[in-house]
Amino acid sequence: MDEILKELPPGALVLDLGSAQGSFARGATLATAIRFDLEAPARIDGEIVVLGDAAYLPFADGVFQAVISNHSLEHFENLERSLGEIGRVIHPRGALFVSVPDASTLTDHLYRWLARGGGHVNAFFSPEEVIRAIERATGLGHVATKTLCSSLSFLNRRNSPLPRPRRLLLLGGGFEWSLLLYTWASRRMDCLLHTRTSIYGWAFYFGEISSHIPTAASLNVCIQCGSGTPAATLKERRLVRSWLPGFRRYTCPGCCATNPFIEEKNLR
Ligand SMILES: [Zn+2]
Repeated sequence: MDEILKELPPGALVLDLGSAQGSFARGATLATAIRFDLEAPARIDGEIVVLGDAAYLPFADGVFQAVISNHSLEHFENLERSLGEIGRVIHPRGALFVSVPDASTLTDHLYRWLARGGGHVNAFFSPEEVIRAIERATGLGHVATKTLCSSLSFLNRRNSPLPRPRRLLLLGGGFEWSLLLYTWASRRMDCLLHTRTSIYGWAFYFGEISSHIPTAASLNVCIQCGSGTPAATLKERRLVRSWLPGFRRYTCPGCCATNPFIEEKNLR
């Protein structure tokens, strides 16, 4: 979503729809962010937070230069009406970022099983169907699709709410060594055997975006904070180190966790 956020000028408004604790840092854009969710976040820290239902957005027509819907559509009870509302409040020449899980993946199955549904009320199986539904509802043209990988950071003990679900014990207990091993093994398997064990979902870009959007899957996703960083960026910032023979690691630029480093390849 950084490609969109970086293009917004001071004074522009960006809607962070279904923001939870915030889909992006305040410093990621010069625009003013309006965080919108059903429930108030644990910390507000001077942010503009509006509470409400995505199917009835309390904003004027075309007021947002950008809308960010980061893993929120799967939670919306009234999806069709919510998409219509996104189309209403976004400027006709605005930019839209949407990410959703692929309900056919191992990662999404694990998430739903562990969290007993995890609040996911909508399941998406086809990127083409998601694109068609959003284009129809918003009138914005599709620009790019990026495949998203997971590091199962939702299993990380640091991120699990207390008391931790007992089912976590069957998934390595959420210890970072187990996530590190899984992340490395799943990437290697997907690259060699063309399986989809590391894939989580898709990110879609719509509307007027002038920046180039790299569509290769970001395989380097942090096991602690869940943020993905392109391999080229990690190398430029000298965050990649040798570890064991044939095994490299990188330090996450966001949270400093140690992660397995994987060269990027196109996954489906
Ligand atoms: Zn991190």
